[in-house]
Amino acid sequence: MSLTLTVLGSAGSHPQAGRVCSGYLVTADGTSVLLDAGNGSTANLLRFVDWSELDGVAVSHRHVDHCIDLVGAFYAMRFAAPRSERLPLHAPAEVAETLRGLLSSDSAHRFDDVFAAREVAAGDRSSFGPVEIEYFASEHPPPSVSMRVSVDDRVLAYSGDSAGGPGLVECASGADLLLCEASWAGDPSGLPTGVHLTARGAAEVATAAGVDRLLLTHVAGGTDRDLALREAREHFAGPVELAEDLAVHRLA
Ligand SMILES: [Zn+2]
Ligand SMILES: [Zn+2]
Repeated sequence: MSLTLTVLGSAGSHPQAGRVCSGYLVTADGTSVLLDAGNGSTANLLRFVDWSELDGVAVSHRHVDHCIDLVGAFYAMRFAAPRSERLPLHAPAEVAETLRGLLSSDSAHRFDDVFAAREVAAGDRSSFGPVEIEYFASEHPPPSVSMRVSVDDRVLAYSGDSAGGPGLVECASGADLLLCEASWAGDPSGLPTGVHLTARGAAEVATAAGVDRLLLTHVAGGTDRDLALREAREHFAGPVELAEDLAVHRLA
């Protein structure tokens, strides 16, 4: 069975001209799972599936560039596109609370009517039809996870936001494709530690994990994309691409 990844949003931290924030649609044999729901990403999601067709959402962490569109999704499913069952929302600590906190008081108590929220942490797993997700510890300031997404023996590893480290290497071990954040490129001196990866850091994770292909995403607005690509290619021997909104990648 093949796994299809559609990039809904590839911008790092904030929208950029013509580029929205983190969102990735994984589909396999009629099952559709959304990974992250950053600013603007669900406008692109709805080009492919309706809310009623979505089988689940997995969110990496509470930063709004990874979850804010679920506020709009709440209203869409509550009023415009009601579902027959609640939408599973699997996310680490603080995500559901963040979203509830953004709803007005007359709506917040209906959150659990729309979402079936489940808190996940490293070591937990989710199953949505043939799509299996295993969560790994991610080095990033709020509670955060990286995701190893499997369909049969096809494996997509998604870093979420991460400064790298052994959890991400384990998550990506032997993956067909590593979808990895590369917020920065170039000289790392002066950058904060424990927050994000450079393109070189992403490539080093790809090499250590022995993945087949590397797809760089979450490139920050002030980062030179060409430099990021060059830098990653210098430090990872396999194919490297930059994620582009609406690009489709098939793992077959
Ligand atoms: Zn982010
Ligand atoms: Zn973040």
